[in-house]
Amino acid sequence: MVVLLLLTNPFDGKLLSSGPKEISYSSFIKAVSGGDVKEVLIRNTSSKITGMFRSGKVFTTVAPTDLRMVDRFLENGVIVKVDSGESGWGYLISALIQWFPILLLIGLMIYSSRQMQSGGKGGIGGGPLGIGKAKTKMFQPKKVNVTFNDVAGIDEAKQELEEIVDFLKSPQKFQRLGGKIPRGVLLVGDPGNGKTLLARAIAGEASVPFYSISGSDFVEVFVGVGASRVRDMFENAKKNSPCIIFIDEIDAVGRRRDNFMRGGNDEREQTLNQLLVEMDGFEENQGIIILSATNRPDILDPALLRPGRFDRRITVQYPDMSGREKILTVHVKNVPLAHDVNLKTIARGTPGFSGAELANLVNEAALLAARQNNLAVTMKDFEMAKDKVIMGAERKSMSMTDEEKKFTAYHESGHALVALLVPQCDPIHKVTIIPRGGALGMVVRLPEKDKISVSKTELMSNIMVAMGGRAAEELFFGEKNITTGASQDIKQATKIAKNMIIKWGMSEKLGFRSFYDSEGYYLEASDQISQQTSEIIDSEIKLLIDNAYREVKKIVTKNRDKLEIIATKLIERETLTGDEVKTIFEGGELPEETRQEDTMSEFKLGGLPNDSKIV
Ligand code: ADP
Ligand code: ZN
Repeated sequence: MVVLLLLTNPFDGKLLSSGPKEISYSSFIKAVSGGDVKEVLIRNTSSKITGMFRSGKVFTTVAPTDLRMVDRFLENGVIVKVDSGESGWGYLISALIQWFPILLLIGLMIYSSRQMQSGGKGGIGGGPLGIGKAKTKMFQPKKVNVTFNDVAGIDEAKQELEEIVDFLKSPQKFQRLGGKIPRGVLLVGDPGNGKTLLARAIAGEASVPFYSISGSDFVEVFVGVGASRVRDMFENAKKNSPCIIFIDEIDAVGRRRDNFMRGGNDEREQTLNQLLVEMDGFEENQGIIILSATNRPDILDPALLRPGRFDRRITVQYPDMSGREKILTVHVKNVPLAHDVNLKTIARGTPGFSGAELANLVNEAALLAARQNNLAVTMKDFEMAKDKVIMGAERKSMSMTDEEKKFTAYHESGHALVALLVPQCDPIHKVTIIPRGGALGMVVRLPEKDKISVSKTELMSNIMVAMGGRAAEELFFGEKNITTGASQDIKQATKIAKNMIIKWGMSEKLGFRSFYDSEGYYLEASDQISQQTSEIIDSEIKLLIDNAYREVKKIVTKNRDKLEIIATKLIERETLTGDEVKTIFEGGELPEETRQEDTMSEFKLGGLPNDSKIV
């Protein structure tokens, strides 16, 4: 403020000596009579006169109400200019600059007082700085050119949503018979399975405006901003109905509110309340449909799911094999394919891939082919793209010493060997010691077909495979030389073991009981579980892991020779397929090396599917 005031003052010529010289009225008149004044500027709005001597020097003076003044100027040949003071930019700007600091001060005071007052109602929307305006992107109908044809493999979800398209297209048809169309539809499913795509497709099919906002956009630092954003968004939507509002990640605002333990969040609660108020505030047949998406429906506040709100739930699942084939078909539409490409085979080899990962796979394959200046994308490109989507890009730049390479090879071979020998284990897809992502090496397993549930035997096998790496290190390099390389393995094994005990009732001692809350947290710290039970849970988890590790050690010790051969081959070739590992294990010879350089390392990649199958 002080700086601003200082800056405005030079106009008065007091602070800076370079400003016009101020002279008395009498000496001014004297100069006029003497013919020394060349011109003057009189302002109608003030008694101040600015002028210029014949010498070129500029001066100012303050004049009394002197009616003969102008006559005297004219007599002495002074050029007289008059500033009406009404529209001159100069005047306006200088007034603004003079007043700016004060205006700013007043503005800030109003702003902060309003914010304090409206804390409870969240009413600073449209405030001086407009923080409350929704960051909603409004797509004009023609801009959403996604249709149901672009959504493949999730037919059930599509069918359920077709009704909504009908409603948006001709609401009268439904109103006539008194039917009620849901106001809110909750799309539930893991990321990348097409929830956003579905919402856009509905808007596209019905050619209505599509508003999209993410739950996390509502959660702001300022209390009340989220709520006012909600209000603005609905206001906007009502003006443009029929339309679709899509709220992604609704769990960011819609978490259940009864969770005292993890602390309250005023801002989130206000936003949620506002959302509920708005949803109740418009008529069923007003033509606004709110779609929201989450992958955690279990943590949503029950108030959100009540009738009249998000009472309809549509699950968007991972696509099955035929679904994946259809999704691939959609995405290869503009990609020239070589004759050998069989989408069915690709679909069979990508269990657990989401729609987004399949889209990414096609894109990576196309980039790879383009990079080699090929005219079409081959099956081989798809194979390599798949490895990249699953395992991450190779980090060629990371140099490993021979020692590290050897260590990694034995570690990974340990995983691979156990994976070959334990029951109900998904077959190995690849074993590699080329660093990818954050890992030095990895064993990737892929299920043979789509899976819905997992058996206890398989869970135990997964724990054991995770332990194979450390067990091999210990066997070949001694207990003192084990490394930190197994941290992810340990985490994975612990997670599975813990879930087996607290979620899936797989401990004999604890029986058919569940020990986790609706948010998936272990109940350890709450009063719903006794100290004694908590201790039993811990000891059961440890017992399960210890038993598994003992078993794994037996397996690697017994197959020490085989493990060594696998590791040696792995050092030589860096990557082995599941079949190759099997061949080596059974004492067979591998055919000559045919591995091609993977030239794709620099490209970006998507998420990793099936991460529990990578060790
Ligand atoms: P979500 O909202 O569930 O996280 P998105 O709708 O954003 O997932 O999906 C991301 C991308 O993945 C889409 O833009 C699309 O290219 C692709 N995709 C996902 N599911 C499908 C599907 N069923 N059919 C076609 N493409 C899909
Ligand atoms: Zn490992």
